[in-house]
Amino acid sequence: MVDVAVIGAGVVGALIARELSRYQLSVLLLEKADDVAMGTSKANSAIVHAGFDCVPGSLMAKLNVDGNRMMEKVTEELSVPFKRNGSLVLAFDEQDNETLKTLLDRGIKNGVPGVRIISGDEAREMEPRLSEAVTAALYAPTGGIVCPYELTIAAAGNAMDNGAELKTGFTLTGASYENGVWTLTSAEGEQVQARFVVNAAGLMSDTVAALFGDTDYQIQPRRGEYMLLDRDQGKTVSHTIFQCPTKMGKGILVTPTVDGNLLLGPTSENQESKEDVATTAEGLRTVAQLAAKSVPSVNTRAVITSFTGLRSCSAGHDFIIEPSAHSEHVLHLTGIESPGLSSAPAIAQYAVEKLGEMGLELAPKADFDPIRKPIPKFREMNEEERRKLIEEDSRFGQIICRCETVTEGEIVRALHQNPPAHDLDGVKRRTRTGMGRCSGGFCTPQAVEIIARELGIPVEAVTKCGGSSKLLFGKTKEGGRDE
Ligand SMILES: Cc1cc2nc3c(=O)[nH]c(=O)nc-3n(C[C@H](O)[C@H](O)[C@H](O)COP(=O)(O)OP(=O)(O)OC[C@H]3O[C@@H](n4cnc5c(N)ncnc54)[C@H](O)[C@@H]3O)c2cc1C
Repeated sequence: MVDVAVIGAGVVGALIARELSRYQLSVLLLEKADDVAMGTSKANSAIVHAGFDCVPGSLMAKLNVDGNRMMEKVTEELSVPFKRNGSLVLAFDEQDNETLKTLLDRGIKNGVPGVRIISGDEAREMEPRLSEAVTAALYAPTGGIVCPYELTIAAAGNAMDNGAELKTGFTLTGASYENGVWTLTSAEGEQVQARFVVNAAGLMSDTVAALFGDTDYQIQPRRGEYMLLDRDQGKTVSHTIFQCPTKMGKGILVTPTVDGNLLLGPTSENQESKEDVATTAEGLRTVAQLAAKSVPSVNTRAVITSFTGLRSCSAGHDFIIEPSAHSEHVLHLTGIESPGLSSAPAIAQYAVEKLGEMGLELAPKADFDPIRKPIPKFREMNEEERRKLIEEDSRFGQIICRCETVTEGEIVRALHQNPPAHDLDGVKRRTRTGMGRCSGGFCTPQAVEIIARELGIPVEAVTKCGGSSKLLFGKTKEGGRDE
C-alpha cells in the first residue's frame, strides 16, 4: 500500500508526484498510456503565459502568475529548456484596442510584472516582420516558452529519483474504500492500494471523479490544430505573437519554440471525442491564414509536422482543485485547461497543501534532491565538451540522428534514465531523435536496433508508441514478408 496514488502522468500529475516526493511518503503515479506526457501535456502551445488573460480573483489567475514566477527555478532544477522571450498581443482595429485595455487591466490586477500597451510602430521595432496593419500591442515581458513534454518527463523522473514509483499501462476503472484504504482497479484487473488519491486525469478527470461518486464535473474537449515549421524558420519572430483572445481561446499564435522551430496555431473547436487528435485540411488552412495576418511573411511551406491538442474545458473556465464531495481522502483536479502548463508548478504546490489540509502528514524528507541530471545534449556542446564526453563514453561519438545531431549515447541514456523510454516515440521525446526535417527517415533503423539491444528484445518487438504500433513486420529480402 502507498500513501498517495496520483492518477495521470501529465505535467500536473508528474509535478504533484515530484512535490509529494519532498516528504516522507510513498507515492505511486498511475498512467493509462505506455509513457508519461501522452495526453494534453504533449500537444499544446508550450507557452508560459504571463497571466493577463485570466479573470482577476480566479484560482486560474493566481496559479498562472505564481506558476510563471516559479518556472525559472523548476526548469533549472530539472534541466528543462525555458526562455523568457516575452509576448505581444496584437490589435488590428478599435475593438481589439478595447480588448487590450481589458487585458492590461486584468494583468495589473493579477500582478503581472511590466505589462503595458505599446504602439504598432514600437511593436514592429521589437518584431520587424509584424504586419503593417498592427495598430497597437500588449507587451508582457514575463511571457515565456518551455518544452511541455520535457518538463513532464523530467518532473516524473525527479519524483522517481526521490522514491516515487511510476506504473504505466494502468487505466483506472474502479475504486473501493474500506478501513481507510482505497483499492484502485485497472481495466486489466490489476489492483493497487493507497491511503490518499489525487485525480489528475486531465480530459478524463470527470470520468475518474465519477468513480469516487462525484458525478457533477463535466469536461468539454476542445480541439486545437497546429503547424510546426522547420528550424530555419525559428527566427521569424523572437517573441510569442498572439492575436486578441475570443471566448473560444487565446487565438492563433506565432511563436518560436525552445528547440528553435516556429509554431503556428491553435484553432479552437469543441468536439465530442476525447481521443480524436487527427488534423484536418480546413483546420491547417485556418492556421496558415490567421498566422499570416500577424506575420505576413510566415513561410508555411516549411512545415515539418502538424498535430492536434485537446483542451479540457469546464463550464466555469476556472481550475477546480478540491476534495471529493462524496469520498474521503480524494482530491480532484479538473478543468485544467490553458494556462495549465504555465500554472503546473503552482498547481502542484497548491494540491499538496490541500492534501495536507485533508490530513496527509507532510514531514519533509532530509535527502530530497530537487536536481535532475540531464541527458547530455551533444548538439549544444562546444568541441572541448564533446571531446571530453566521447572520452568518457565512446557512444557519444556516434551520431544517429543527423538532422538533430543526436548520438547513440543519448539514446542509451533515454532508455535507462527515469522514467525510461520503452519505444521509438519515447526516445524521440527525450532526445529529439527523428524530430528533424527528415522525420526519422534516416535514423529510425539505427534507433530501433539500439532500443532492441538495450531492452534485450528482438527488433520486431520494438514499437513506435507501445501497444500494437509495430514498426517491423518481416524481411523485404531473403524470403519476403512473414506474418
Ligand atoms: C491546444 C492547446 C493549447 C494549449 N496551450 C497552452 C499553453 O501554451 N500554455 C499553457 O499554460 N497551457 C496550455 N494548454 C493547456 C495545458 O496543455 C494543459 O492545461 C496541461 O497540459 C494539462 O495537464 P494535465 O496533466 O492536467 O493533463 P494531461 O497531460 O492530459 O494528463 C492527464 C493524464 O491522465 C491520464 N489518464 C486519463 N485517464 C486515466 C485513467 N483512467 N487512469 C490512468 N491515467 C489516466 C492520461 O493518459 C494523461 O496522461 C493548452 C492546451 C491545449 C489543448
